[in-house]
Amino acid sequence: MKLLVIGSGGREHALVWKLAQSPHVTQMWCAPGNAGIGQERLQRENAIVECVPIGAEDLEKLLEFARTEKPDLVVVGPDNPLALGIVDVFQLSGFRIWGPTQKAAQFESSKVFSQQFMERHGIPTARAGTFTDPTAARNFASSLGGRCVVKADGLALGKGVLICANLEEAHHAVDEILVGRVFGTAGTRVVIQEYLEGMEISLHALCDGRTARLFPISQDHKRAFDGDQGPNTGGMGTYSPAPFLTEGQLAQVGHSILDPWLRGCSAEGIDFRGILYPGVMLTKDGPRVLEFNARFGDPETQVYLTQLENDLVELLVASVEGTLAKHSLKWSEHASVCVVMASGGYPGAYAKGKVIRGLEAASALPGTKVFHAGTALSGQDVVTNGGRVLGVTAWGAGLAAAREAAYRAVERIEFDGAQYRRDIAAKALA
Ligand code: AMP
Repeated sequence: MKLLVIGSGGREHALVWKLAQSPHVTQMWCAPGNAGIGQERLQRENAIVECVPIGAEDLEKLLEFARTEKPDLVVVGPDNPLALGIVDVFQLSGFRIWGPTQKAAQFESSKVFSQQFMERHGIPTARAGTFTDPTAARNFASSLGGRCVVKADGLALGKGVLICANLEEAHHAVDEILVGRVFGTAGTRVVIQEYLEGMEISLHALCDGRTARLFPISQDHKRAFDGDQGPNTGGMGTYSPAPFLTEGQLAQVGHSILDPWLRGCSAEGIDFRGILYPGVMLTKDGPRVLEFNARFGDPETQVYLTQLENDLVELLVASVEGTLAKHSLKWSEHASVCVVMASGGYPGAYAKGKVIRGLEAASALPGTKVFHAGTALSGQDVVTNGGRVLGVTAWGAGLAAAREAAYRAVERIEFDGAQYRRDIAAKALA
């Protein structure tokens, strides 16, 4: 099979790495890819994975490329092309493409849609309201005592969620989004949720429109600095499995979210084929969904795919074709930890083009895989080319061993200004 993978981050490197292990794959492209993706080889025939310089949102050029090369399966990593309707566009041209359609991707591209869907179908979520009118929004925030979370409806580069400690902050957030339009049309509407306390976890389920297969729990680390301090980022590290629920409790949480979600999708004619990734708060009153994403998490993918034992090509084909009921997911006994190494200054301004040293020494360690995110080639050197640069991932018998192995690899890697958290998975080991 010939595969085209779309995206350029750590998630896509992990997807490419795992897909390349499938004996079904004879050729693979990644658009646009990164320096690490371009070094991957297919297990079959040792063929290289070819990076194609087309951006993930350039649907027209991607389609033109596909018409020439005729991939048997297209795999979409990031949320933006999904929200733009890449799946619909490719399907119309007769391609087999994995990911939700534009309508199904609304679970991520519209927080208002998601919130109202959850309320219509009895999915446990935060108490919330949706607003276009600033006065009504301010009044609702006041009714919550000011402690709340104000969310722009649309995609806002991961910045559209404002956590407010008091009424003043809440009113300011409403004004910024609905009046000042700091997120443009993504902020025409807002969702305001009560602020929930508890342990936050990531769930993932592979779906084929009828069946949803739940993954083990993972936990991301959104804040830039140790101890969950500093600004929000795309994610500074993950680990799996997270020990906050027993297997039985996880199954229960999965049912409480996925059963009504599947029934709701069926009732509303939403045929969701792809990954549903609910962000969940485990509160003292039970699990509550904070938001839905409609694709693999980044860096959750890096830990999941180093644990998954199935052939990923077979699973994605089953997800596209609606035959997932015939497959069960198999996970290794190992735990996995991913530590993100970022450019100094991230998530604020940062420099690019810093030479990265020690990649080979780190990769030579057993049970270790260094996934690239923001990297590029400059002559013979691999250099930094983004905020999140590497996802240093290791697996081992238990979280403590996996964590030690990941940090051992991190210590071998150097670039000017490298910044990473020292406490990934610490909550699980406390
Ligand atoms: P979202 O993109 O909606 O998941 O929000 C980003 C982050 O904001 C989440 O990962 C949570 O850490 C936090 N957050 C979102 N909604 C809430 C809420 N209702 N209560 C507390 N924290 C929240």
